[in-house]
Amino acid sequence: MQAFYWDVEPRGEWWKSIEPKLTTWKALGVDKIWLPPATKGMSGSFSMGYDPFDYFDFGEFDQMGTIKTRFGSRAELEQLIAKAHSLEIDIVADVVLNHNSGGQLEYNPYRQKNTYTKFEPLSKKFPRSFEDFHPNRIHVRDAEALFFEEQDLCHEQENVQNWFWKGENSVAKYYKQVMKFDGWRFDYVKGFDPEVIKNYMASAGGFGILEVWDGNASLINTWVEKTGISAFDFAAFYAMENAFDGFDLRILVERPQLWKLKPEQAFTFVNNHDTAKETNQGNKLSSKESLKLAYAYMFTHPGNPSIFYLDFEEVLDKADLKKLTDINRALAFGELKILQASQDSYVAQRAGNDVSPGLIIHINNSNLPQTKVVTTQWKNSLLFNYSGYGVNTVRTNESGQVTLTTPRKSYSVWSLNNF
Ligand code: ZN
Repeated sequence: MQAFYWDVEPRGEWWKSIEPKLTTWKALGVDKIWLPPATKGMSGSFSMGYDPFDYFDFGEFDQMGTIKTRFGSRAELEQLIAKAHSLEIDIVADVVLNHNSGGQLEYNPYRQKNTYTKFEPLSKKFPRSFEDFHPNRIHVRDAEALFFEEQDLCHEQENVQNWFWKGENSVAKYYKQVMKFDGWRFDYVKGFDPEVIKNYMASAGGFGILEVWDGNASLINTWVEKTGISAFDFAAFYAMENAFDGFDLRILVERPQLWKLKPEQAFTFVNNHDTAKETNQGNKLSSKESLKLAYAYMFTHPGNPSIFYLDFEEVLDKADLKKLTDINRALAFGELKILQASQDSYVAQRAGNDVSPGLIIHINNSNLPQTKVVTTQWKNSLLFNYSGYGVNTVRTNESGQVTLTTPRKSYSVWSLNNF
């Protein structure tokens, strides 16, 4: 579960507002929640955390105009983490290692002008200045992709390495050992070398996942291979967006996606804090109908599905998502075989394994009910519809053939009735 959206409200109350939801999320099958960057950013009480200023101010020092972060106090965060752990839910911290914001002006000899690179955080941890940013005495820059150019951290600088992963009070050690975070979502990794992630993971341990914001599955795969950790499947996100909004489901079959290459390390999603922004019209599934079909696709296919906070809490039907998470946990196993795909219909089968019978999913992206005849792996069997959409049962013939009917803009998920 991505447990936040852009500009969460009310400010200063987020940790307290999600804590009571954890029990419901656990029942839904959630085993990890991803929190926004939890320390003080330049924008103070307005900050979503992606403008990191003090990596160790979790809402306890009076700076940037506020004691609390946008999400609450340190005590409230610690209470949230403890509650999650009592339910056996892991907490994934959002770690922004690429850039900083909110430094004081100082003369920067490398730029021969004043830059906002003097950082004296009240936590007294990770003081830094122009040598810790690019350009510096080591080199001009570290990556092709420059973001927050004047406050782009240099990860070859000893001071930066000490505070990010080497030292006893580094972000890696402190977040794991003192704050009790279980894992890391690495923001904007395109801005630095994969070696940074390897070093951080070696120091912190736990679960790690990359934000490689790119629709190119092989590029994301390269990052997975270089770092050894998981990644969000942006390739799957764009494939689903194009398929369901562009009304051609064959895109799902043809388009490379990370889960097709590395199912264990691919985390699929249909929405996140960036794609769901009001201002973002281009890169998102445009309608509730498209979202519903994308979640059905994601939960029945290989990879690790994730749910976006607003989709569960406000947009989609909670009972529908619960059915999909149950299907995911009980039936979405084994080899994937596409039984039929056209512009507005898609039928796929999961072969199952020793403990699960597998499933058939039929997605209908047309405006009319749709009937498809497909040949399944089950002969002379009664199949039960687990989706809640359409008729409840169908029977396959002696060759495994069956006729599936699915309502407009909907899906059906079939498996053995006696499971
Ligand atoms: Zn550097």
